[in-house]
Amino acid sequence: RNLPSGDIAWKKSPCRFCGVGCGLLIGLQEGKAIAVKGDPQSSVNKGLCCVKGYHSVMALYGKDRLTKPLVRKNGKMVETSMQEALDLVAQKMQEAIDNHGKDSVALYGSGQWTIPDGYVASKLMKGAIGTNNLEANARLCMASAVTGFMSTFGMDEPMGCYDDIDHADVFVLWGNNMAEMHPVLFSRLLDNRLKRKNVKIIDLATRTTRTSMAADRSILFKPQTDLAIANAICCEIVNNDWVNTQFVRKHTHFKKGKTDIGYGLEDGFQFNDKISDISFEDYKTFLQDYKPESIQELSGVSAKDLKYLASLYGNPNLKVMSLWCMGPNQHTRGTWINNLIYNIHLLTGKISTPGNSPFSLTGQPSACGTVREVGTLTHKLPHGVVMDEHSREMAAEIWQVPVEKIPSKPTYHTVEMFRALDRGDLKFMWIQVTNPMVTMPKLNRYREGALKEGRFVVVSDVYPTPTTAIADVILPSAMWIEREGMFGNSERRTQHFEQMLEPPGEAMSDTWQLIEVARRLGYEKLFPWTKENHIEEIWKEYGRFHEGPKHGMAPYETLKSQPGAQWPFHEGKSTKWRFNPKYDPACKREGFDFYGKADGKAWILARPYEAPPEVPDNEYPFWLNTGRVVEHWHTGSMTRRVSVLHQAVPNSYVELHPDDARRMNIRTGNLVKISSRRGEIVMPASVDERGKPAPGHVFVPFFDEQFLINELTLDAFCPISKQPDYKKCAVKVEKYSSV
Ligand code: SF4
Repeated sequence: RNLPSGDIAWKKSPCRFCGVGCGLLIGLQEGKAIAVKGDPQSSVNKGLCCVKGYHSVMALYGKDRLTKPLVRKNGKMVETSMQEALDLVAQKMQEAIDNHGKDSVALYGSGQWTIPDGYVASKLMKGAIGTNNLEANARLCMASAVTGFMSTFGMDEPMGCYDDIDHADVFVLWGNNMAEMHPVLFSRLLDNRLKRKNVKIIDLATRTTRTSMAADRSILFKPQTDLAIANAICCEIVNNDWVNTQFVRKHTHFKKGKTDIGYGLEDGFQFNDKISDISFEDYKTFLQDYKPESIQELSGVSAKDLKYLASLYGNPNLKVMSLWCMGPNQHTRGTWINNLIYNIHLLTGKISTPGNSPFSLTGQPSACGTVREVGTLTHKLPHGVVMDEHSREMAAEIWQVPVEKIPSKPTYHTVEMFRALDRGDLKFMWIQVTNPMVTMPKLNRYREGALKEGRFVVVSDVYPTPTTAIADVILPSAMWIEREGMFGNSERRTQHFEQMLEPPGEAMSDTWQLIEVARRLGYEKLFPWTKENHIEEIWKEYGRFHEGPKHGMAPYETLKSQPGAQWPFHEGKSTKWRFNPKYDPACKREGFDFYGKADGKAWILARPYEAPPEVPDNEYPFWLNTGRVVEHWHTGSMTRRVSVLHQAVPNSYVELHPDDARRMNIRTGNLVKISSRRGEIVMPASVDERGKPAPGHVFVPFFDEQFLINELTLDAFCPISKQPDYKKCAVKVEKYSSV
């Protein structure tokens, strides 16, 4: 209503924040971004945004934006020029390599990196320097989704697309507070429920959220027992003869994973997943331990509700979409629970057709595009994995480096990388576009490790954070539309955005910072691009890794001319549903073709229930769960600079069940001390406000750097994916004061 009425130029960009990847129209006037509206031409959001999207450009203009590099001198951060700061970064990196070897340096990035950022990072670390010490924070949010896809289908990323929502009759949300985490997609679910008869939303979760309140049915379960619940659903499907026998015979194998116990509390990089064949009869026998009546006490879900869930999946006349994100992924058996949700869809044949879709959502704007597709993880390359000779040869040929330069063994996954910094095995670490001093589990340990003598830490970011506070050099980064780039969203859609604004002060894009340092290290020939052409040239080079009908990426010109393209992009067209010959030209076999597996057959994996590594006891009697709120993005480093978002939720809080609060005489706003075996914090209570945990549970959003809840969380992780479990550990809760 109060927009300036002068000439406003509207330019297209994907949203900077979550993995939904809404299309925005950015209003530009006199060199500033002044307004945002949803892009009606974007098939992702069709003109709608959430509160973060509408206010996204305000995050560019926080008062304390980093505009000058800072270096630590005599314990104090002092301003310097960008050229001197980059010289120092290159010098320290080279010194570490010369004195301690190439595996003493590491780069830690993000699912908020653009695709060119991630590509240059991979080429610098793996191709130029020759170390696999490259990781990204997406290890903390979607690594289990990747290993789930890889073990079941042999290929990563969802086979369906957001259009599935317009076809499905039933949505089962597995531990997924979609109303707050993926709000625009959730509104599409609600819209379909309004427009079409008998559409149902089932919320299966460990606490009551805004999603539960909007759902047709809210089913609460005890933490970690989603493993048993998924098996109970499969048990019912098998015992009631609801199996789509023709589909299962033609397109699946039954397999068993080695059921090793180990939460990754201290380990190296082993995938720990030995698979062997089993028969359908073996699988059926395995499932009999999960009859609904047998697991209702364990799971807290009645046999009636478990049978109801199974009947929805088992009904051949209903199209079912399962949607999940951090609940199943941040789990000490994250890979297994991903496999188990796929099992339900494979047994019933409800997969890769419009509306029948197991859909793993991502959190960050380019966790798929940058981390999963470019492969900015220790074991990955832009195509394939470092352990595979063919993938190394392809990378060496495209990068024009000797193949021996690219090491064949993964080194440190994220938790292990920070342990290596703590141990002193890493001497130099560069962190870009992420805030690990808020997000690492068991945070005290990793903060102390990073601050030890003899470590040199560089942080590139747009605002001061607890991570810049530990840095020896802080590089100011250009943000989002202050540079050109691409993001890849949850439905395999790559979206380009152009540079619309000048970055403030000496701020520079993360891509160009990496290129500048690479050149100072002597790799000019590998990074020959100019400031004007580098994004186009990087995209063209990167595209060589992804050619053909199974992986093809849209050309640069296509990305510039339309609001995104889904891969596989082949002969000028995006593929909406993979593995189904009706929609996917890469399918060569009759019926469905899960071509990620050599014989085109997906795997139904028997995965058991396993207890969590830490459970409440007399000393620490509450479950702690952590997560997000719709108003704040990630650690809040940007959204807390947007006054309207900050005022809406100015600080984090601990949610308690009203019965627990009453028993301890705690009211909303009282200060509460929460402690675990790893740390303690004091923070305000919230009772019966936004969400409601189950009795004996508490929930804390992690966006607030004033209340670092990760000082309490446990660094146990899935032994296959290496993704930590932020959703459950044991804590004590005490009233601290009535203020
Ligand atoms: Fe941005 Fe996600 Fe909100 Fe869409 S739903 S506007 S992508 S934060």
